[in-house]
Amino acid sequence: MKPIQYFVPKTMTEALSVLQEYGPKVTIVAGGTDVVVNMHHGKLKPEVIVYIGNLGLEEIKEEGNHLVLGALTKIAAIAASSLLKKKAPLLPMAASSLGNPLTRNQATVGGNLVSASPAADMAIGLLGLDGEVTLVSSRGQRQVALADFFTGYRQTVKKADELLTAIRIPLKDIKGTFLKLGRRQASSLSVVNVSCALSISQGGNCEEARLTLGAMAPTPIRATKAEGLLKGEKVTEALIEKAAQAAVDQTQPIDDGRATAWYRKKAAQVLVARALKQSIS
Ligand SMILES: Cc1cc2nc3c(=O)[nH]c(=O)nc-3n(C[C@H](O)[C@H](O)[C@H](O)COP(=O)(O)OP(=O)(O)OC[C@H]3O[C@@H](n4cnc5c(N)ncnc54)[C@H](O)[C@@H]3O)c2cc1C
Repeated sequence: MKPIQYFVPKTMTEALSVLQEYGPKVTIVAGGTDVVVNMHHGKLKPEVIVYIGNLGLEEIKEEGNHLVLGALTKIAAIAASSLLKKKAPLLPMAASSLGNPLTRNQATVGGNLVSASPAADMAIGLLGLDGEVTLVSSRGQRQVALADFFTGYRQTVKKADELLTAIRIPLKDIKGTFLKLGRRQASSLSVVNVSCALSISQGGNCEEARLTLGAMAPTPIRATKAEGLLKGEKVTEALIEKAAQAAVDQTQPIDDGRATAWYRKKAAQVLVARALKQSIS
């Protein structure tokens, strides 16, 4: 077995220079809950590891009209955050549903996004809140909307020399919820997960609707047709059923060890309708 080169940078400059020098040979490790499992199963054989856990980047704050999460913020901290419970409650809901206490204390929000699993719980929550990520390299910095971040099954626009450093979420007056169906109550990846964020006018019409589905396509997806049906309308029982059907019509789930595509569609329709009802009550 070839020895693995291991770097533990203490500063961002140091980390970026290692990424610049070794590029595609590098595996970045944050919490390691995906990387180490993949190494253990022989799916990942890194030549160079950069452990970024000493770079700080662990914060949850309000900045102007945005919420900002540092990429190394632990899932457990998101689940417990009183700021997020007040301003973006579906994120603590999503975080509380991820894995088990041990995983949540180790796993990071940046790792959940870059792992780009179609079922990634934080990805579903953050995409549903119009989040954007900050990607930094020695070449500079760029902001990418999560709507443009996921490009395919476990693929993103992030380049090999880039670090994800933060996630920004626009603050809006929205009601939202996150629902997940797994094969067990805990420590289970989603068969389907749904985030729903609605803004309702004083007159009771839906001003903005954001519905996001996980494990229903190669990437996390927004149910744009259902969102279009809801926007500007009174959210009645009949419209909820129509929107749930439209959301599912836009998906292409697969059969896998967790569920069949047929079951996923049935379950997603129920979950979307339930999420919409919870978001208006
Ligand atoms: C028992 C168990 C249960 C789990 N349950 C769930 C679940 O219910 N829901 C769910 O969504 N996930 C689940 N996971 C998967 C995993 O825990 C999450 O995806 C987690 O958020 C990954 O974060 P991490 O910091 O551990 O990532 P790591 O394993 O460190 O990294 C994951 C990927 O992201 C890259 N990366 C990490 N951070 C950065 C960064 N800042 N910049 C650039 N690249 C980066 C790494 O190179 C790697 O490709 C589970 C895992 C385990 C082991």
